[in-house]
Amino acid sequence: MALSGLDIYKLLPKTNCKDCGFATCLAFAMALAQKKVSLDKCPHVTAQARQALESASQPPIKLVTIGSGDARFEIGNETVMYRHEQKFYHPPAIGFLVEDSADEQEISRTVEKINGLVFERVGQRIGAGLICVRNQSGYRNKFLTAVSAVEASSKMAIALYSGDAETMAEAVALCKEKRPLIICGDAASQEAFITLASRNNLPLALTCAGIEEAAEAAAKARAGGVEEIVIHLNEGGLSKRIQDFTYMRRSALKKNFRPLGYPVIVFTEAADPDQELAEAVSYVAKYAGIVIMKNVEREYVFPLLVARQDIYQDPQKPVQVEPKIYEIGKVTALSPVLVTTNFSITYFTVAGEVESSKVPTYIVCCDSEGMSVLTAWAAEKFTAEKIAETLKKFGIENIISHRTVTIPGYVSVLSGKLEDVSGLKVSVGPREASGIVNYLRGWKP
Ligand code: SF4
Repeated sequence: MALSGLDIYKLLPKTNCKDCGFATCLAFAMALAQKKVSLDKCPHVTAQARQALESASQPPIKLVTIGSGDARFEIGNETVMYRHEQKFYHPPAIGFLVEDSADEQEISRTVEKINGLVFERVGQRIGAGLICVRNQSGYRNKFLTAVSAVEASSKMAIALYSGDAETMAEAVALCKEKRPLIICGDAASQEAFITLASRNNLPLALTCAGIEEAAEAAAKARAGGVEEIVIHLNEGGLSKRIQDFTYMRRSALKKNFRPLGYPVIVFTEAADPDQELAEAVSYVAKYAGIVIMKNVEREYVFPLLVARQDIYQDPQKPVQVEPKIYEIGKVTALSPVLVTTNFSITYFTVAGEVESSKVPTYIVCCDSEGMSVLTAWAAEKFTAEKIAETLKKFGIENIISHRTVTIPGYVSVLSGKLEDVSGLKVSVGPREASGIVNYLRGWKP
């Protein structure tokens, strides 16, 4: 069982010396119970208490690092069941399957497509993180050829998937500096894979039929010296896996059951691309550490990456853009001015519509702490006074000659007061961004 804050407090020195950065031992104990701080921060804890507190100071779900350099990513180390309780920390890696049974040209085309799966959304780069090469053919040479081809033509992290330990050892030698994840595809080879992972200090994924088998296999791997373990449950369909992943996370977080405290890797199975996408999004939501897709087409990968980005966004910190005046196109003193908030999605939606209109426009983003227009208005972060203050601070009157600004239709109620406090003429724009193109094309100062 996980220790409560009070259980931990009883074991601390109770001197309130503040050396840990917390005002009291009790505050430190509470933070430790929530896995927000490491026990090492208290230099005064006794050896006896340290031993008792060891379990409370360890992350309930092991942090696993895969890849090296810029391609390196981390999974696991999550602390909550639900995003609204705090936030999710490590977005699952989205990987793509390359089968060694494909011919060289097909592998090369697939890898090229995977390399191009990089997008920009709300000012952030999102993309694929991993290529998984599977020894589907069962032939060693084919697998090694495919691994070499992927290694040479992609900078992404690699996962190697085979049931044969000798084949895997040779494949590891081809890409060891990339710190690949090795996936043991056959329970009979588990011991040899554990030795291989331990010797090379590599993360190891253990393929198991169910969670009991997974707990046993993970304990064996730990005893064999493997620190970074990933679980691969290869039986059951989508709903069974989600049930199992949820059970694993709950056991690790709520019961502090270490043998299941590891991230999971999952492979999509649906043949239909729409269903495969729905399957992958479900795994991202509940609770995969790595999702391996078959489909590499951009129109299917982008929605998956968007879902991941949204789910792993800190709910207490909306994605924001810098509050300032943005110039879209070749603006002049006669260009229209649209006023909005600095919520990223709002800004990029408005900017996209302005670009489509081909009317050069200024967009003034007011600091609304990242809230959207209506939310910010309701929270009094987007008021006439605040907008007027922002327009003055950015010197809009020195930039345009027509003295007219446009506010979103949803806050038309602000127009009169904004005119009074800013001394500018205020137009009311469309309620929805989709109306911006027509509005700008018909706009006159
Ligand atoms: Fe208490 Fe240790 Fe923090 Fe000092 S450093 S306040 S003894 S928890």
